[in-house]
Amino acid sequence: MNPLLDDGALPRFDAIAPAHLTPALDLLLAEAEAALTAAGSPAVAADVDALAGVLDAPVERLRRAWGHVGHLHAVADSADWRAAYGDNLPRVTDFFTRLAADPALYAKTRAIASAPAFAGLPAVRRKAVADALRDFELGGAALQGPARERFAAIEARLAELSQRFGENVLDATDAWHLDLPATRLAGLPPDVRRAAQSLAREAGAGDGTDKGTARLTLHAPCRLPVLATAEDRAVRETVWRAHAQLASELGPAAQDNGPLMREIAALRHEQAALLGRPHYAALSLVPKMAGSADEVLAFLRDLARRAGPSAARELAALQAHGRALGLDTLQPWDRAFVGERLKQSLHGIDDETLRPWFPLPRVLQGLFDLVESLLGVRIVPGDAPAWHPDVTHHRVLQDGRELGRFWLDPYARPGKQSGAWMDEARARWRRPDGQLQTPLAHLVCNFMPPQDGRPSLLTHDDVITLFHEFGHGLHHLLTQVDELSLSGIAGVEWDAAELPSQFMENFAWEWPVLQRISAHVDSGEPLPRTLFERLTASRHFGAGLRMLRGVEYALFDMRLHAEPGTEARIAALAREVESEVGLPPRPAEDRWPQAFLHVFDGGYAAGYYGYHWAEVLSADAYAAFEEAGVFDPATGERWRRQVLATGGSRPALENFVAFRGRPPTLDALLRHQGLQEAAEAD
Ligand code: ZN
Repeated sequence: MNPLLDDGALPRFDAIAPAHLTPALDLLLAEAEAALTAAGSPAVAADVDALAGVLDAPVERLRRAWGHVGHLHAVADSADWRAAYGDNLPRVTDFFTRLAADPALYAKTRAIASAPAFAGLPAVRRKAVADALRDFELGGAALQGPARERFAAIEARLAELSQRFGENVLDATDAWHLDLPATRLAGLPPDVRRAAQSLAREAGAGDGTDKGTARLTLHAPCRLPVLATAEDRAVRETVWRAHAQLASELGPAAQDNGPLMREIAALRHEQAALLGRPHYAALSLVPKMAGSADEVLAFLRDLARRAGPSAARELAALQAHGRALGLDTLQPWDRAFVGERLKQSLHGIDDETLRPWFPLPRVLQGLFDLVESLLGVRIVPGDAPAWHPDVTHHRVLQDGRELGRFWLDPYARPGKQSGAWMDEARARWRRPDGQLQTPLAHLVCNFMPPQDGRPSLLTHDDVITLFHEFGHGLHHLLTQVDELSLSGIAGVEWDAAELPSQFMENFAWEWPVLQRISAHVDSGEPLPRTLFERLTASRHFGAGLRMLRGVEYALFDMRLHAEPGTEARIAALAREVESEVGLPPRPAEDRWPQAFLHVFDGGYAAGYYGYHWAEVLSADAYAAFEEAGVFDPATGERWRRQVLATGGSRPALENFVAFRGRPPTLDALLRHQGLQEAAEAD
């Protein structure tokens, strides 16, 4: 039996292999194709239930199987997976492109929306129909003739280009390493150094002794600590340069993302033009909260202006501290290092200090306890097939009933995309046969793997990342919506999607939470109060520069997609944006856009600003907890009911107002970022 065709209780991730893909898709595509033909035929009435009864199950089955494959391609890539995925991508894209623009379905959906009975449908149903109509329009359903063909051809090409963009970043990351004597690793935390030495040992690059060879890589658990702690400036510079040039024309031509980026952006603008929009951003913003590219640009520039004074002070302090450390000019490969030293001298803490207090198993249990007491759910270990031995599985229960399940894939390894994300493996859905399908989620991180019998140890930043992804997971798993297109994270405006995730980050700064999630790896002691106070005191350290950096990425993304033609001068655009926000110029060889996965291989095109947009909402939402007590169960229950459970079934603003009793304001964000003073000064 082909595991991709197995509709049992849980996907068999341990059994799904590249060879299963083509035969499974032969069948799934044929089923979906037949359903599409039937749904468009006169035999099926223009009625929501009638259409769903014919179409939804086969299409969901196809989408779910393809989703499993996309997931495996992202976390356990191999030459075979890549080939199988690439071979089948065109026909899957072709089907979904035709589905999104199908003239008969579009006509029936319009008929449903304009029928007298429409007003009598439940609000959730009406939103599902209205969203579907909008998506038909954005999918090119109203296009005719050559324009229609061109639109579909662009979809196919974009799918291929995005896949290659991501693979290039992965390949370039995996391909690079630096072998060097372990003696050059002075300053590195012992766990990072151990990891580098065992990697060299496994690769046969060293003699295995403590004085032997170490291997550095560009994977986050190695790269970030090296940049932040390695005393050897040349080592930092080598690692920084390799990362800055990733997937660019300065490396192997086969991994150069430059031509791909230009083509992707140009094709997006062309699609927008086909749909009568001035640029891609205008198209991308239709289903989002923000009204226009100008509104977003003004929002971002306002944030940059407010963060500017803090950032300038921070930069001057970094430069002064760099000089005190004997570094005349502060180079990009010095910034994290000097920043950590300065933070240590000001607050007695740096990013690595807390690692021994945050063994992953303890952090996870503490996080589960928090969620259980706050939201009235239980999280218990589950048993399910996984794609890697390090992956764990968990069930989410409420009053003994299973709400959903999730897999957690915590550690960095070759063949796994960098970063951290939550992805749906299945959505909650009242199926046409009346059965309730429960949601499944993947939580993927890239933490340091366990070493020599010691558990994975997290930095506080890692803890925040885990809380963030868990917030996405709760959004997906605690939904109570039965409509497939609006349950979990589906149907949520993309610039509000980070609300539940960024909201969760706040708890990682609370003393009672930190006590619960910490236990020193050697002594088992919780985090001492003195360290917590230093952590709190350092919370806003570098916040101005961090804000400018985030705004820089978001402005780059928005201008690339709001100014047709900028794709021909991406490097220049990056420099313009940098000076626009007031950041010091990076070295000419910095090619950071070439690895900007969110925008070129993710769903964030003309949407990266959403991190900041949603932070206004999340900071203000968290302020409700600060006002009522951060563990107030009534506030937690309201959060679950009005935001997590409802998700995309209402506009995000309605969810927010239902929770908060008023629209959001910027105050809480500025306070949380320590930028309030600067804001009041002007
Ligand atoms: Zn997120």
